[in-house]
Amino acid sequence: MLKAPCPANEPQRLQALDELELLDTPAEQYLDTLVRLTRELFQVETVLISLIDRDRQWFKARIGLDLAETPRDISFCGHAVAASSLLLIEDARQDPRFADNPVVTGAPFIRFYAGQPLYSREGQAIGTLCLLHPEPGTLSLPERLRLRDLGTLAEGYLQLRGLSQQAQKLRQAVSREQRKALVDPLTQLWNRAALGQFFARELHGARDNGLQLGVLYADLDHFKQINDRYGHAAGDQVLWQSARRMSAALRPDDLLVRLGGEEFVALVTVHGLDELQRIAERVRRSIAETPMQVGEHAPQVTLSIGTALALPGENQAALLERADRALYLAKHQGRDRTVHAPDAT
Ligand code: GH3
Ligand code: MG
Ligand code: MG
Repeated sequence: MLKAPCPANEPQRLQALDELELLDTPAEQYLDTLVRLTRELFQVETVLISLIDRDRQWFKARIGLDLAETPRDISFCGHAVAASSLLLIEDARQDPRFADNPVVTGAPFIRFYAGQPLYSREGQAIGTLCLLHPEPGTLSLPERLRLRDLGTLAEGYLQLRGLSQQAQKLRQAVSREQRKALVDPLTQLWNRAALGQFFARELHGARDNGLQLGVLYADLDHFKQINDRYGHAAGDQVLWQSARRMSAALRPDDLLVRLGGEEFVALVTVHGLDELQRIAERVRRSIAETPMQVGEHAPQVTLSIGTALALPGENQAALLERADRALYLAKHQGRDRTVHAPDAT
């Protein structure tokens, strides 16, 4: 096996990647949509947006693979980045560079690979948009151009994102090292520790703008039955898909957290109760309106939500506790609904 080589301009390349502040950040709806469409278009098992870090490749967006990262030296994308041009492997088993690579001889048994490099604004190859499939394949010339066009869209998003307010806020709030401990690897959402990190910031941000901080405390209904009926791995996929749907139903500046298990909390800045309830209903419907897709199964899943608006002087624990009590009522009133917490406790 040929290990992924290091390009000559590696220090500048890594600097460009670091400056984008993309590594170890939560998944983003636009890139999730892009990889989903790319998979439909090319009819392959897996599509990734892979970023090539010092010694690993880390996936900013992924569909069809349940891994957050792999070592760089066994990565195909490391080769595409080093070559700085489209890398097309029609059958990895027939290619001496890849035939004995553990991702070819073992899961996910890659045979076909196509990786389109993605560039920073300075022209450094920071990662790829890539297709993987467990059977041999090829790309016609028009298909290569299509993949390049999709790469351009991904690249444009990553570059513009560097300028977004969200990314700047994040950069100010936590260092890159801290961030690693704040993202949940299964769902690629912020985790419970991140909620503690960001809560005060969100609360003050809302007040400073004359708005209110609202919270959605959400729990998947009868989730244990999904595990019991379809297995734990299927349960994990339902968690992943639920996270994507909830993110899409929220707004870009809302903060969505996986609190643990099948429980999620969203912090949303709103003008008042009406707006909070509209958002909560949108999130609830995003789960209930279409069945999930788990292999050949299509389990119908629902979500219960408790909502609350922060009271003057209320701390994080007290606010979440009120929302949790509202969630408890939602469960008892029959699930698949949202219940708002009264102001008084
Ligand atoms: P309710 O409507 O009352 O919320 O019922 P429920 O079945 O959703 O709630 P319960 O608390 O009884 O079960 C939650 C289950 O979630 C139990 C646990 O095994 C499962 N779970 C927790 N974390 C994970 C995970 O990371 N992956 C998977 N697949 N299952 C998980
Ligand atoms: Mg539950
Ligand atoms: Mg629960």
